[in-house]
Amino acid sequence: MHLEIERLSKTYPGGVRALDNVSMTIPRGMFGLLGPNGAGKSTLMRILATLQNADSGSARMGTIDVLRDKVEVRKILGYLPQEFGVYPRVSAVKLLSHLAALKGVGASTRDRRQVVETLLERVNLADVRHKAVSTYSGGMRQRFGIAQALLGNPQLLIVDEPTAGLDPGERNRFYNLLAEVGESIIVILSTHIVQDVKELCTNMAIIHHGKLLFHGSPSQAEQGLSGKVWSRSMTKRELSDRAWEYPILSTKLVAGSPLVRIYSDSDPGHGFRSSEPDLEDVFFSRLESA
Ligand code: ADP
Repeated sequence: MHLEIERLSKTYPGGVRALDNVSMTIPRGMFGLLGPNGAGKSTLMRILATLQNADSGSARMGTIDVLRDKVEVRKILGYLPQEFGVYPRVSAVKLLSHLAALKGVGASTRDRRQVVETLLERVNLADVRHKAVSTYSGGMRQRFGIAQALLGNPQLLIVDEPTAGLDPGERNRFYNLLAEVGESIIVILSTHIVQDVKELCTNMAIIHHGKLLFHGSPSQAEQGLSGKVWSRSMTKRELSDRAWEYPILSTKLVAGSPLVRIYSDSDPGHGFRSSEPDLEDVFFSRLESA
């Protein structure tokens, strides 16, 4: 089952066009929605999660009209918002059981207990299930967030900027969990972190100022830049003098010296060498030309 989004637009009362005619097809698996802060990602996520209305356009998943049949959408939806709100001083088991009851999961208390135990195992929080969620680390909270989003076996899981603030170990554990979930359902991950999409997603979109700049697979995106990325390590002085006119894609310090990547259709000279494009190049080149 695909999620088909067509010509979705949304302008906020202040006049910000957060979504501008966005169309895309999202198949089963991990889908990365990549864009800088303010691109319109959360707006799109909230519209798909039925928490906000679009001005125009449509979204369909199988027989469900996502913008109209809100009750139906909520039956198949799991959502982890950017801000999960206050974490109460109750244990993970108690909180998840409570959320399960609110969602109408499980025919009896016993069923519900079983569902909760299974989910806490799945997100690797079984050992700490009797600890208060308020004492959890950022990564543990995000995994708890996934557990609550998976209550009721959703077909569509939406996670908004889930890895911001996680340390590398926690991020990895979180990636593994999402990758496993993404094997069987549609998972939409919104992020401004290129690495999230690179490591996890089979399909992706780039949005900026509410507009769709790219839609396809990460490898297609990279192939599109083949032969157009050039790099060179240089002194800080050379970087600030900038004797070439090509757009800079990124500047990274490698052992203290700037490694500069630029975009050029042909050999830019100035000692630059051709470089394999990566997803970060794609992201910055699309933003640059938007
Ligand atoms: P992202 O999630 O990619 O950071 P958002 O969807 O949150 O982007 O925001 C897109 C644009 O819409 C931004 O310019 C933001 O300031 C604006 N915006 C978001 N929510 C509101 C709101 N409730 N009222 C007015 N403007 C908003």
